[in-house]
Amino acid sequence: PVAEAGLYSTSDQVILLTPDNVESVLVNSTAAIVAEFYASWCGHCVAFSPVYKSLARDIKEWKPAVDLAAIDCAAEENRKVCMRFGITGYPTIKFFHAYSKGDSKEQTFKAFPRDVRGLRHKIIDKLEAHEDPWPPACPPLEPTSQAEIDSFFETNNVQHLALIFEDAKSYVGREVTLDLLQFENVAVRRVLNTEEDLVTKLGVTEFPSCYLYYPGGNFTRLNVNVEARTFFSYALQRLPGVVRSGKPPPDSINIHTNNTEEPWRPFNKSRLYMADLESTLHYSLRVELAAHTVIKGDALISFKKYISVLAKYFPGRPVVMNLLRSVNSHLQNQTGDEISYEELREMLDNPAQSPDTALPEGQRWVGCQGSKPYLRRYPCGVWTLFHVLTVQAKNAGGTDPKEVLTAMRNYVHNFFGCRPCAEHFENMARESLVEVSSLSSAVLWLWSRHNRVNNRLAGALSEDPSFPKIQWPSPEMCPACHTVRENGEHRWNDEQVLSFLMSYFSSKSILTDYLD
Ligand code: FAD
Repeated sequence: PVAEAGLYSTSDQVILLTPDNVESVLVNSTAAIVAEFYASWCGHCVAFSPVYKSLARDIKEWKPAVDLAAIDCAAEENRKVCMRFGITGYPTIKFFHAYSKGDSKEQTFKAFPRDVRGLRHKIIDKLEAHEDPWPPACPPLEPTSQAEIDSFFETNNVQHLALIFEDAKSYVGREVTLDLLQFENVAVRRVLNTEEDLVTKLGVTEFPSCYLYYPGGNFTRLNVNVEARTFFSYALQRLPGVVRSGKPPPDSINIHTNNTEEPWRPFNKSRLYMADLESTLHYSLRVELAAHTVIKGDALISFKKYISVLAKYFPGRPVVMNLLRSVNSHLQNQTGDEISYEELREMLDNPAQSPDTALPEGQRWVGCQGSKPYLRRYPCGVWTLFHVLTVQAKNAGGTDPKEVLTAMRNYVHNFFGCRPCAEHFENMARESLVEVSSLSSAVLWLWSRHNRVNNRLAGALSEDPSFPKIQWPSPEMCPACHTVRENGEHRWNDEQVLSFLMSYFSSKSILTDYLD
């Protein structure tokens, strides 16, 4: 379950310190730990918590080398822990070295920056100054030299060596090094612009820029839209042969033959498939809901709203729309305070109307196929369905900007079978659904929350190696969606993202292949 304590929950990817785990997290850890000591009543702490959460998302890939933790010193049960570390003011951030003894001598971040970039740089400074023993998962961060490069492939068994050329003040090289630390078959080193031999040999004129270097001295420049951290990291994580540690390589041969019980259905990744949407409705209405023998109270209200949103906005085939409208009118006329699943199944399977009213049975996944039977499929369909619905609602010019998202929130809360997923989603909704004030912001809200989930799940067991979780859409799918600020930080261009989503999830984008 999703634990919550003070200002953070486990969905935030911050370790929640308690008297019970403080020893195992902070003492003798193989990773360095940055720990925030706060008081939940302190206004500055409340204001700082979104920054700390963004930082956690931003440096998620660095976890094996450095992880984030937090503890609420206002909770009485935590008082002893906070005293042990000599905390007198909030928020206080301390850096615990790898293999720390957990005494109060750990360094405090003095007057620390209140922005993600500043904090990230501070963490790199601390890591670089780390005394022995160095956190074992942390790659070298100091600049490399011609001599090291010359013998690199004798001692390192990797396919790609990425060299980031930059000036001494730049953090990009070290950031990308850490961003790649959980990936195999690639190593990253920074090269300073003062390293003349290498700069001349590769003919480097732009700083920062990234080159791939191979045994025998061959090299090519890494092709990116913008010479910045996020673009370098994304491109390097996707080089041929580069895989997340512990994950099998994407299985491009098997996936097209028969890893699942069904034949693989080739599909176009830039399109949607009605087969996925109908399979989602089938599973949701005939399998997920069937777990509830009686639907009543809040669940019944949620269910009616879900069906009414589908009847209004689902861009379905006429037969399916007839069915959704017929179920919807049954439900709207239904006045009892409960409904049995049997009644619902009757509406779905034996609609009284003409024969051209039906929801096809069975699951036929296409764009949501997984490389294994337990990967992707229904949850992929749920996301896709609701993205489509937010986009359709905007096209239809609905009057309530939150209509679709509220229906989704309540459906997920009451019925979505993955209960931890439902709790995480409810947390996000509680935190920020109020910010949605227009149909456009509803489309963008769901996109950005889905990306948060992707960030959290990247590398998790539920990730299909053939469909890695990325911050979506990728720079290849939508180059205009990605920009950088003056200081080189990645920034989404929301206007471009919105127009990308409006087209990607439009009814025109839906293909009817693989339907009966
Ligand atoms: P999905 O994430 O399911 O995405 C489906 C498709 O949508 C992608 O293939 C892509 O084409 C597109 N897409 C990707 N990102 C975006 C975006 N940001 N905006 C628009 N479109 C996008 N699993 C867990 O293990 N833990 C959880 O807490 C969890 N919470 C969930 C909460 C909800 C509400 C849902 C619906 C699912 C949740 N899941 C969770 C499941 C998980 O998010 C994935 O759905 C599942 O792992 C299958 O992943 P996938 O590769 O098919 O891509």
